Amino acid sequence: MAVQGVVLGERDSVALEDIEVGAPGAGEVLVRIEATGVCHSDLHVIEEDGWGHAYPILLGHEGAGTIEAVGEGVDGLAAGDRVVIGWKTACGDCPTCRRGAPRQCKRPPAATGRLLRRDGSVLTPVLRTGTFATHTVVPQVAAVKVPRELPVEQACLLGCAVATGVMSVLETAKVWEGARVAVIGCGAVGLSVIQGARIAGASEIRAIDLDERKLEQAKRFGATHTEPGPVDFVFDVVARRSTVEQGIGLLSSGGTFVLIGLSPGGETVELSLPQLFAKQATILVSHGGDHLPQEDFPRLAQWALDGKLDLAGMVTRTAPLDGWSDALEAMKGGDVIRTVLLP
Ligand SMILES: [Zn+2]
Ligand SMILES: [Zn+2]
Repeated sequence: MAVQGVVLGERDSVALEDIEVGAPGAGEVLVRIEATGVCHSDLHVIEEDGWGHAYPILLGHEGAGTIEAVGEGVDGLAAGDRVVIGWKTACGDCPTCRRGAPRQCKRPPAATGRLLRRDGSVLTPVLRTGTFATHTVVPQVAAVKVPRELPVEQACLLGCAVATGVMSVLETAKVWEGARVAVIGCGAVGLSVIQGARIAGASEIRAIDLDERKLEQAKRFGATHTEPGPVDFVFDVVARRSTVEQGIGLLSSGGTFVLIGLSPGGETVELSLPQLFAKQATILVSHGGDHLPQEDFPRLAQWALDGKLDLAGMVTRTAPLDGWSDALEAMKGGDVIRTVLLP
């Protein structure tokens, strides 16, 4: 079937192309993408020479849509279902999954060879999803049913930014009620951390960002302060030398620093070991907030429907699929919380 997708064909070469999508294989589903958020990780893929994905690459990993076809043996999903696509899935049989830690699975399943470029070369979808496209094929565990009452341009955010931010608080760090929290970097993920901290019952939520506009936004999502101060948890969504140093400096005794953001290749940091020891600090690394799509998307969707989670306020712009380039520029410039492309 001829469809369209935004392809990183080789280093620094991105274009909207006609591509081919095959029928879903056993255990796979074909999804018509109706909305896809433009996340920093897509920019990271472009800027970091594919970020480990083999060229050519189909961009996008924060999508939602409707199932058009299911492969053999697919259970519990049918054509017409509204789904959010998850990238942080679990295989169910690696040593990590078998010891009961599917959230840390390092072998998430992929549907390979279903998406092709016009010349026949196989596309690698970013994080096994490839949502900057009109259609994609994913394993059934990556397609999670959500209620149709949740507008699709909001639902797609559950797929990456919201799951990453909220679950970094609830799952990775397990923030307790009454804790003091700081968030460095108040884009879509940072605002989701703020919302997660609010849901966890944090007593103080400090938003830290160099951009004044983002601090104003942060207050709308639940930040109580917009200046640094001592805290129990620091979430670093920026992940640069300066922010890690600042973050560890803000920790109170027994505090926890959580690294969420993607650093540029080669980024390093110098830590004072006596300071780390004196504070008895914990350093955690969050891969997407250790979220598990099958378990977390339904409850996040329900929180959004219940008004506990503000997704509507995060969608500051929508554009057609061919607006991908402007959307990336707007994100770099900090002009938007999220642009959602509507393929
Ligand atoms: Zn596994
Ligand atoms: Zn993302």
